[in-house]
Amino acid sequence: MTLQHSLPSYLKACENGTLKEKINLIYALLEKCSLCPRSCGVNRLEDEKGVCKTGRKAMVSSCNAHFGEEAPLVGKNGSGTIFFTNCSLLCNFCQNYEISHFGHGYEVTDEELAKMMISLQNKGCHNINFVTPSHVVPQILSALELAVKKGLNVPLIYNSGGYDNVETLKLLEGIFDIYMPDFKFWDSKIAERTCHAPDYPEVARKVFLEMHRQVGDLVIDKNGIAKSGLLVRHLVLPK
Ligand code: SF4
Repeated sequence: MTLQHSLPSYLKACENGTLKEKINLIYALLEKCSLCPRSCGVNRLEDEKGVCKTGRKAMVSSCNAHFGEEAPLVGKNGSGTIFFTNCSLLCNFCQNYEISHFGHGYEVTDEELAKMMISLQNKGCHNINFVTPSHVVPQILSALELAVKKGLNVPLIYNSGGYDNVETLKLLEGIFDIYMPDFKFWDSKIAERTCHAPDYPEVARKVFLEMHRQVGDLVIDKNGIAKSGLLVRHLVLPK
C-alpha cells in the first residue's frame, strides 16, 4: 500500500477520445452478448435477455452513500454506491437475492445514471462504487461520458464477483481506478453447485491478474482514502 494523490484515469480517457472509442467497442459486444464468461450470444441491443436478464438498458436497485464498505473506500462521507439489478453469476447464497435473482429495481437511462454519479459526488462521497457492474459496463461507460461533462472527478470502483470476461476487462483499462472483486471458490464443484459456473476458479484467477496489471497495488492518499489499485475480498462461506 502506498501513499499518493492523483486525478482519476477516466478524465484523461475522456479528454483524449479513448473513452468514446471504448464505448463503441464495448456496445458492439452486446449484439451477440459476450460481456461476461456466460457468453449467452443474445442480441441485447434488441432487448433480448440472457442469464443476467438485462436487455439494452441498465437497471438500478439503489444509489446511496454507503458506510459499510472497506475502510479506505468509506472515509468520512461514505462510498457512493450504485447497486445494479440482476447478475450474471447468480450465487444461490447471495445476500441480495431479491436484487440479483428477482430483479428488484428499475431501468435507467444513461442520463439518469450520470445524475446518480453526480448526486453521490455532491454528497461528498469519496468514489463511485458500481456494485455488480459486469453485465452493464457499456451503459456505465456511456453514462460516465455524460457525468464527466457535469463535473465528475472522483475515482470509480469496479465491485464485481470476480466472474468477468478478461477481454471485456481489457477494454476498461484506464477507466476504473479501483477494482474490488470478491473471491469465492477454489473448488469448481462448489462453483457448479452454488452458481452453475464450474469455470469460476479458473476465470477469477485470470481476472485478478488482469485487474492487477491495470491498476497495481492499492494506493491511498494522506487521509487514508483509496485512490487506485486492487482490493480483493475473500468470502468465507458456511458449510
Ligand atoms: S452479460 Fe448477461 S447476456 Fe451477456 S453474456 Fe453475460 S449473462 Fe449473458
